Amino acid sequence: MAQPVQVTIPATGRKITVPTGLFINNEFVPSVDSKDTIETVNPATELVICSVAAASSADIDRAVAAARHAFNTTWGKNVTGFERSRLMNKLADLMERDAQALAELETLNNGKPVRVARDFDIGDSIQCIRYYAGWADKITGQTIEVDNKTKVAFTRHEPIGVCGQIIPWNYPINMWSWKVAPALAAGCTIVMKPSEVTPLTALKLSELFVEAGFPPGVLNTVPSLGSVGGAALASHLDVDKVAFTGSTLTGRKIMEAAARSNLKKVSLELGGKSPHIIFESADLEQAANWAALGILYNSGQDCTAGSRLFVQDTIYDRFTALLAEKARALKIGDGFGEDVSGGPVVSKAQYERVWSYIESGKAEGAKILNGGEKRQGKGFYVDPTIFTDVKPSMKIVREEIFGPVLAVAKFHTEEEAIALANDTTYGLGAGLHSNDANQCMRVSSALEAGTVWVNQYNMLNNNVPFGGKKQSGIGRELGSYGLEEYTSVKAVHWNFGEKLDWPF
Ligand code: NAD
Repeated sequence: MAQPVQVTIPATGRKITVPTGLFINNEFVPSVDSKDTIETVNPATELVICSVAAASSADIDRAVAAARHAFNTTWGKNVTGFERSRLMNKLADLMERDAQALAELETLNNGKPVRVARDFDIGDSIQCIRYYAGWADKITGQTIEVDNKTKVAFTRHEPIGVCGQIIPWNYPINMWSWKVAPALAAGCTIVMKPSEVTPLTALKLSELFVEAGFPPGVLNTVPSLGSVGGAALASHLDVDKVAFTGSTLTGRKIMEAAARSNLKKVSLELGGKSPHIIFESADLEQAANWAALGILYNSGQDCTAGSRLFVQDTIYDRFTALLAEKARALKIGDGFGEDVSGGPVVSKAQYERVWSYIESGKAEGAKILNGGEKRQGKGFYVDPTIFTDVKPSMKIVREEIFGPVLAVAKFHTEEEAIALANDTTYGLGAGLHSNDANQCMRVSSALEAGTVWVNQYNMLNNNVPFGGKKQSGIGRELGSYGLEEYTSVKAVHWNFGEKLDWPF
């Protein structure tokens, strides 16, 4: 299978040609040895969209060989930062040109509202590529004086090499950009494995990559099952680095495979069970907006979802009533409606997983403030579900659900709020709302998380680092820190005068 197919966007009638082959050396090609395909599904209708080729481990070998050849000939140290920057800016321009069509394809395959896909996911992705295009010609090492007369040392920040990048289904275009942009800026070549649930936009973006003028082999796109293509990349002897976003369980497997094979560099952005604390001095109306956004944005399929909400006892009843109002005010429906704020969850598997958590919350005795009832009809919809009076031992408090399901509990003192918030194996995001500046400072420094939001939630910026503590990950994405993950520092020691006496 390598022939493109035409898919029709139901809401707009737009016809989009989607490549269905593996993208290797700037061409869409069939698998070398497999007839396996991946079926994509529209989560709003449960109808099949199309099937694409599934890469085998032999295809991964071929993609890695293409990336290695490009690294050694046209990319890596063979291209200037100015040229990398130019090509990346061109890619961003093409994404801007095609933003509406890309957004529609993203909504078709992922379910998220088209307005959100276009204005946030794709808007942010274009900015991310331009941000790192700006870095491509500004990568510098240091000159280090060793002694003033005979010796100097300097460092070079070299591209790491061939990178395997494995991304999830919750932000298919965004995660693609977060991975591809710093790697290209640093001079690395890429074998990208999109999620088998949402491979379509990564294939479409590969077309734009060719149109932008990148040399063959710099980016290769290999949709595949995680246990096949993902595992092959993580254990490949000729891959220098693997970058992953997804579940902690899979992150652990990737790190093991990297350790067992060639000790390749690993960066992991994993799960979370992020705490969100509302103190009594907060602007409650605003805090309720941010708390609702924290759990309902992207239907809760967000690694930083503020899924554990802690509310001070003095404002608990007032605040939870406000929160229920906010949840009810959101329109959840087919993502092609421009007024929709939340779509279905991504797949049947995810739908079943989220509902099993809702059932476990009910069985463990948490009270339901909103939602908790299944809809009739087609589509993997889960209405905003808010549990109150939860206990720290409940499954809905301890485990990542990855759906619009919030667990709310009361606290009395600041110390208690911090202890509850940090009572998790994860450490990705955390939020707090308070009008007491000293409290904001104290609590933000006590929270064990890679990102802390004060009087807001879930806002990320391409120039600010993002990543996890504890079991939420290793390494950082975005900002200059994200670039460092793709460079390797070489120290060069230079002698311009010292003579070595012999015997020494
Ligand atoms: P996952 O971690 O299994 O999948 C993410 C990516 O890893 C996909 O591309 C997948 O093909 C790949 N993968 C799977 N097994 C692999 C392996 N052995 N080696 C290499 N790559 C492999 O996540 P999922 O099964 O799609 O979702 C399960 C749960 O993970 C979700 O319910 C959610 O809790 C969590 N999740 C978290 C994030 C995040 O951004 N933190 C994203 C997606 C899913």
